[in-house]
Amino acid sequence: MNAPNPSGWRPAMGDGVQDPAQLTASGDRGLMLEEPLIFELGRPGTCGVDFDEPAGEMLPGLARFARKAAPALPGLTEPETVRHYTRLSRQNYAIDLGPFPLGSCTMKHNPRLNEKVARLPGFADIHPLQPQQTVPGAIAAIVELADWLVTLTGMDAVAMTPKAGAHGELCGLLCIRAALEARGDARAVILVPESAHGTNPATAAFAGYRVENIPATADGRVDLAALTARLEPDVAAVMITNPNTCGLFERDMKRIADAVHAVGGFVYCDGANFNAIVGKVRPGDLGVDAMHINLHKTFSTPHGGGGPGSGPVVLSAALAPFAPLPFAQVGSDGVLRLIEEEDALTAHPHSFGRMAAFHGQMGMFTRALTYILSHGADGLRQVAEDAVLNANYVLRSLDDALDAPFGEAGPCMHEALFSDDGLPEGFTTLDIAKGLIDEGFHPMTVYFPLVVHGAMLIEPTETESKAGLDRFIAAMRSLAVRAQGGDPSLKSAPHLAPRRRLDETLAARKPVLTYAG
Ligand SMILES: *Cc1c(COP(=O)(O)O)cnc(C)c1O
Repeated sequence: MNAPNPSGWRPAMGDGVQDPAQLTASGDRGLMLEEPLIFELGRPGTCGVDFDEPAGEMLPGLARFARKAAPALPGLTEPETVRHYTRLSRQNYAIDLGPFPLGSCTMKHNPRLNEKVARLPGFADIHPLQPQQTVPGAIAAIVELADWLVTLTGMDAVAMTPKAGAHGELCGLLCIRAALEARGDARAVILVPESAHGTNPATAAFAGYRVENIPATADGRVDLAALTARLEPDVAAVMITNPNTCGLFERDMKRIADAVHAVGGFVYCDGANFNAIVGKVRPGDLGVDAMHINLHKTFSTPHGGGGPGSGPVVLSAALAPFAPLPFAQVGSDGVLRLIEEEDALTAHPHSFGRMAAFHGQMGMFTRALTYILSHGADGLRQVAEDAVLNANYVLRSLDDALDAPFGEAGPCMHEALFSDDGLPEGFTTLDIAKGLIDEGFHPMTVYFPLVVHGAMLIEPTETESKAGLDRFIAAMRSLAVRAQGGDPSLKSAPHLAPRRRLDETLAARKPVLTYAG
């Protein structure tokens, strides 16, 4: 095969096409456009903008900072630049193109109303360094969102500043650490279930704790007996995801919380899966002390490359005194107020500090609040019910074609979990995932949670219609059938995407990060 350009890219072919150069001269195939690296497109001396000649002499003393050689930037005209990025964007997949069934990620539709509100000049044009008295509307919006989060979770306070779920975990653990140290009882260990998201043990280790695993029961839940047996005075907290990453509700949550509290520990709940229970269950009623809420999951603000995230942390009365500034708390009069740095010495002397500058991700707050207000309390409850219904529809439509390890245990919550058990010798979860790309779907989450071999975790969210789910189910079923029939072409899928199957190990171990051509 002739490499059409120096980076060695080759158009993706269906099986049976030996020489891509024979297919089209350009390498493009209809509307499937190929695109070289920007460095291969650029020519020295080309520029998309006109710069003025530098005026006057350089200030004395600055000459030593002057550039000695031209910057190694690709030279492109404006239309070339626009086309380059637009052509690349067409090789991407997005929630606006089709279902994004990544389990645990809650990739739901982002209503355009959210975007309209976030772009109102009163929100979009304000600056973090503006005096606070000039932005009372923005502060009121933060307080209103905080009020919803505290009400929906049945908690006492909320720190709005954390920038994502993992940042929220750190915020929660730092509150726990401050609370323990305030009573002279620094502890060393955080207990984390085997099924936890990788951020949980990573955050605990980052916060200076030793992580110990709690095993799962055969039905995919936290082993209560093993957990209580390990509850000794060195346990600072447990971190439990509910619903958990197997898509199951932790029914023993209250008993777990009572047992942890009885030995003076705290309960951190990973609230990334709040979408399944919003409006149905208040984590505060289950004894949770701290929980992050991924606004970019449950409340629809864009993520997965469309970022940024936002991870407010709701806190119990026991942890609220240690919250980072600023944060919102329900006062003795039942009214939620924002507690700012200025109030700290009098009203909040035990704060552990700050998680971030300013007040948090304003653009995400406005989108999440718009989502909440446009759904209302009853609509949010229906979000949870529909998300769970859709996941169970996927589970029951495919459990005869793929192994569903916890299918016997009853309905799932918001995500359906399958395993590679029962796929014929030589076929893996990866083959199913890559086959989905040819079918025009983003793959599901694969090989997570770790407690299930070859896991395929599918989260349809409430966004998908029954017709959309049926198309996805038909694609999954066809892939399972192809695997059962030993179809060798499935082993090399995708065939119809801009790229064939990549050597992911090589890409991770020896990434090519610069263009040396
Ligand atoms: C997404 C997720 C996280 C991390 O949240 P980020 O916002 O990506 O930092 C943690 N736990 C679970 C279960 C998740 O799904």
